[in-house]
Amino acid sequence: MPVGAVREPPLLECSFGSSDDRFVISVNEAVRTILEQISPLPGEEVPILQAGGRVLCEDVRARRSVPPFANSAMDGFAVRWQDVAHAAEFPPVTLKLVEAVAAGYVAKRRVSEGVAIKVMTGTPIPVGADTVVRVEHTESHGEQLLIKAVDGPGSHVRQAGEDIQKGELALEKGKLLAPADIGLLASIGKSRVRIFRRPRVAVISTGDELLDVRDSPRPGKIVNSNGYTLAAAIQEIGAAPVSFGIVRDKRKSLVAALKRAARCDAVMTSGGISVGDYDLVKEALGEAGARIEFWKVAQKPGHPLAFGRLRNKPVFGLPGNPVSSAVSFLLYVRPALLKMMGHRNLFLPVIQATLEHEIKKSRGVKEFIRCRIRTDNGRSFVSSTGAQGAGVLRSLAMAQGLIVASEEQTQLEKGSEVPVILLGRLEALNEELGF
Ligand code: AMP
Ligand code: MG
Repeated sequence: MPVGAVREPPLLECSFGSSDDRFVISVNEAVRTILEQISPLPGEEVPILQAGGRVLCEDVRARRSVPPFANSAMDGFAVRWQDVAHAAEFPPVTLKLVEAVAAGYVAKRRVSEGVAIKVMTGTPIPVGADTVVRVEHTESHGEQLLIKAVDGPGSHVRQAGEDIQKGELALEKGKLLAPADIGLLASIGKSRVRIFRRPRVAVISTGDELLDVRDSPRPGKIVNSNGYTLAAAIQEIGAAPVSFGIVRDKRKSLVAALKRAARCDAVMTSGGISVGDYDLVKEALGEAGARIEFWKVAQKPGHPLAFGRLRNKPVFGLPGNPVSSAVSFLLYVRPALLKMMGHRNLFLPVIQATLEHEIKKSRGVKEFIRCRIRTDNGRSFVSSTGAQGAGVLRSLAMAQGLIVASEEQTQLEKGSEVPVILLGRLEALNEELGF
C-alpha cells in the first residue's frame, strides 16, 4: 500500500501556520514520516488467554518437551520390533498380552521378548517396547495376541519432544499470537506471557455543530459520527479508544482538551484542521506545545491532515468530513497504532483488480475511491460505490475496498488493472470454497 516504489521529494520544512501549498506532502511521505516517529510501547504480562491477536514481546523458550514422553499415536499394542518383524496374515506372530493401559496411566509391566501391552492413543510407550501395532492388524483371544501385519519399525510411536524440545525457541518476539500459539504456550507450561501493551488513544471530536447520538436533534446540529467511527476503528485493531467527547471550536477549550488528552499514548482529533474561520485545531496544537511535522497531504479524500508530537505523544489532526477522517485513519493512524502494538505487518492488503468503468481524477493528488469488489473465475473486478463526496459515509460503509489512483494519473481506463486496498474480508472466498 502507501509506502511504495515512487520516489518522493524530501519532506519540506514546514513553517507552522502557513497555508502555502508548497507544504503539501505526498501520501507516501506522510506515512513514512509518521512511522519513523513511532516506536513500540513497552510490554505487559497477561494470562495467555488474553494474548490472542496481540504481539509477543519476549522470546519464549520451551521449559518442557512436548510431548513430555514417548506415547502411542494409535490404539493398538506396544511390542518389540524384533518380535514382530516377520508377522504376516499367514502365518501371524503370537505374543502374550500382559496388560492394558489407558491414556493418562503408566504401564506396570515391561515389554520383554514375546510380550505385548495394549495401549491407547496417548498412552506412554511401556519400557522395552519400540513399536506400536495397530488394533486393525491384530486378533486377540484372551491373553493370546495374533499380529497379522506391521507398518514398520518404530511405527505409531510419538517420540518425546517430537513437537518441541525443552530449551528450544517456541515462539519469537514479534509473533502475532494466533489460537495455535496460545495452545503451544499452554503445552510448554507457560500460563502468562509478555505482549506489547495496547495504546490508549484519545479521541477528540471538534465542532460547535456536534451533538451526541443520544441528544435530541436541534437546528443546525449534526451527530458526532466521527467519534464513533474512529473509536470503533481503534477497537477493531485491538487498541483502546478513550473518548474526550465533543469539544467546541474555542481555542481555550481545544488547548485544555489536548493537554489532558496527551496523557494517553496517542491523540486523535477530528475536524477544525482546514482553512475555515473556526478551524482552530492547528493553532490549539501549537499553543498546547505540539511540534507539527506536516498538515496537508496531496490526497482525496482527506487533504488536511496534521501530524506531530504533543508532550512526546503522536498526535493526529484528522479532517472533519466523515469519509476523510475514516480514510485518513486507515492510511496513517492504523499503521502507527499497529506499530505501537509491536505489529510488523502494518498495512491493509492490496490486490490488483480490473476496473469496470472509467474514472476521472485530478493530477497531483492520490485518490482513494470507495469500491465494491466481485470475483469471477479467480479474477477480481471493482466498481465505485457511487457518490464519492467526503461527507457520504454510507458509500464507505458499503465499500469493500479503496481503489488507489496515483498522483500522475488523470484518468483510469475501463478494463485496466488497478491496485485496491482491501477493507475487510471478501465474501467471495466462501463461494470459492463451495460453502
Ligand atoms: P471541519 O473540518 O471541522 O470544517 O468539518 C468538515 C465537515 O465535517 C463539516 O461538514 C462538519 O460538520 C463535519 N464534521 C466535523 N466533525 C464531525 C464529526 N465529529 N462527525 C460528523 N461530521 C463531522
Ligand atoms: Mg469544524
